[in-house]
Amino acid sequence: MKFLPMKSAYKSLAFLCVLCASAVNCFALDREAFTFTSYDLNIQVDPEQHRLGVRGKLTLRNDSQAPQKIAVLQISSSLDWRSIKAGDKSLQFLSQPYTSDIDHTGGLSEAIVTLPQPIAPHGTIELEIAYEGVVLLDATRLTRIGTPEDAANSTDWDQIGPAFSAVRGAGYVAWYPIATEMANLSEGNSLFEVLARWKMREAGSRMHLGLKVHRSEGILLSDSTLPKMFFNGIPCTASGSEHMVVWAECLAQNLRLDAPSLLVADYKVLERPTIEVRYLHGHDVAAATFADAAEKIVPLITEWFGPQREKAKTADLPDPHAAPFESGALLLTPLADSDPKLAGLAAAHQLTHVAFLSFRPWIEEGLAHFAQALYLEHEKGRQAALDYMDVHRSALSEVESPTAAQKSGAEASRSLVNTTSEELYRSKAMCVWWMLRDMVGEPALKKAIAAYRPEQDKEPSYMPRLIAAQTQRDLEWLFDDWVYRDRGLPDFKVESAFSRKTMTGSFILTITLDNLGTAGAEVPIFVKFAGSEVMKRLEVRAKHKAVIRVELPAAPQEIVVNDGSVPESDRTNNTFKIEQEPK
Ligand SMILES: [Zn+2]
Repeated sequence: MKFLPMKSAYKSLAFLCVLCASAVNCFALDREAFTFTSYDLNIQVDPEQHRLGVRGKLTLRNDSQAPQKIAVLQISSSLDWRSIKAGDKSLQFLSQPYTSDIDHTGGLSEAIVTLPQPIAPHGTIELEIAYEGVVLLDATRLTRIGTPEDAANSTDWDQIGPAFSAVRGAGYVAWYPIATEMANLSEGNSLFEVLARWKMREAGSRMHLGLKVHRSEGILLSDSTLPKMFFNGIPCTASGSEHMVVWAECLAQNLRLDAPSLLVADYKVLERPTIEVRYLHGHDVAAATFADAAEKIVPLITEWFGPQREKAKTADLPDPHAAPFESGALLLTPLADSDPKLAGLAAAHQLTHVAFLSFRPWIEEGLAHFAQALYLEHEKGRQAALDYMDVHRSALSEVESPTAAQKSGAEASRSLVNTTSEELYRSKAMCVWWMLRDMVGEPALKKAIAAYRPEQDKEPSYMPRLIAAQTQRDLEWLFDDWVYRDRGLPDFKVESAFSRKTMTGSFILTITLDNLGTAGAEVPIFVKFAGSEVMKRLEVRAKHKAVIRVELPAAPQEIVVNDGSVPESDRTNNTFKIEQEPK
């Protein structure tokens, strides 16, 4: 072992620290100094043994302001470092456990490496690395904060096993080296923030994989059932096989904001013109249901988001309750359940991604979730869509509560255009797209979406400008409150309502609506009268009041503000009973 001298170096460093005012500062390693710009990894997977063995090369670039003599490399705590070299020279490193929820085990194996020479800012170094270990189903990071075991296992479903092997990258399993500060799930947004910083640094880095997969007893015994291997959703090509081993080459890919994933499973495939479904043994019916549901909604998705750029790809997960995951163009989702409605919901999301591309999460993911609501509306009517959005809205009210906003600070960093919070760029963005449709109308919004070109999207205002170009309405305040900034949510309250009988026997109702909240919106107002109701829409800016007059054929009885299409912080004050005037 090479790390003994390093240990004594640490001892003296630790001693020096006693003299410092803050031992922590003195000891602080800059874990986020280096960006890993290239990975060239040879990976051995032995599903029967749950084993993962990796040898390869990494290129590190110093993105900090200072020269760096120490580099930190982190892998999952269930893996162990074997060697780290620069050129032909073995480097000294200290291997230590590092508690962090960025990995499913709740910990990392960290190598603190002494580099042969300090690396200047912008300078690079190539390291040769080797590590190995097992990747078992492990949801420690979730169970230790109180998540029930079943739910935890269905969330952190990554593992290498005889029947199925799948590992998602940073944020799930550190199966390739990363370098991050500690992430703690019990501390608000800590994990999201650490993860977001890592992904931003890594976006555009290159990863190439060579695979060597040991065949297991249960599956993969004959050449006709070569294991199906995917890197980021793209199939790897078998380059040779021999007795119990298969080699494969995976296309080098640039890393994006999603976690790079590796998947090895014994899939069967169902091919349709628009979708390819890979499914596990016994899931034939569910796979067909999924493909049917997807094909059925292709026209709706095409009408909104354009034709498919490629065939949609879906792959099965063995745990029927496993949380779906998107890996590039591949959707991983359990197919055991053959409920067509759930299949349709998943397919709507996936087909939207296949048709529409943006690197901005509030557009890319927001529209894919919006498409799910459109699908439900198409199948079952507006209320079904609103009910679906309601599930998202409850998550949203939590992150949009005033205390949450204060805690995490700036309105701008939490804005839809900048946020790394999934609740915001998924749930909130979906609601914003829905509100935009209600405000500018379907044809205008479709035209704006059709005009979008990802390569022309150079600034956050690009999409808002495309939408504004399709309407006479001033939407700048809406984009300000909801997209460019995180102003929280509106809170509507009927301040007063007066009705007056006209000469012709109809009624004029004058409603003053107060928005007590911190974001403006256009909200639907429903006025009930004997046997029926009318709906009007009213724009009310944040901390403002607006007045609307409604003509009715009979005396008004009740006013209900907001059918749920506008996210709101308090909906308990949205009903107003109208006292009948004494005759
Ligand atoms: Zn998505």
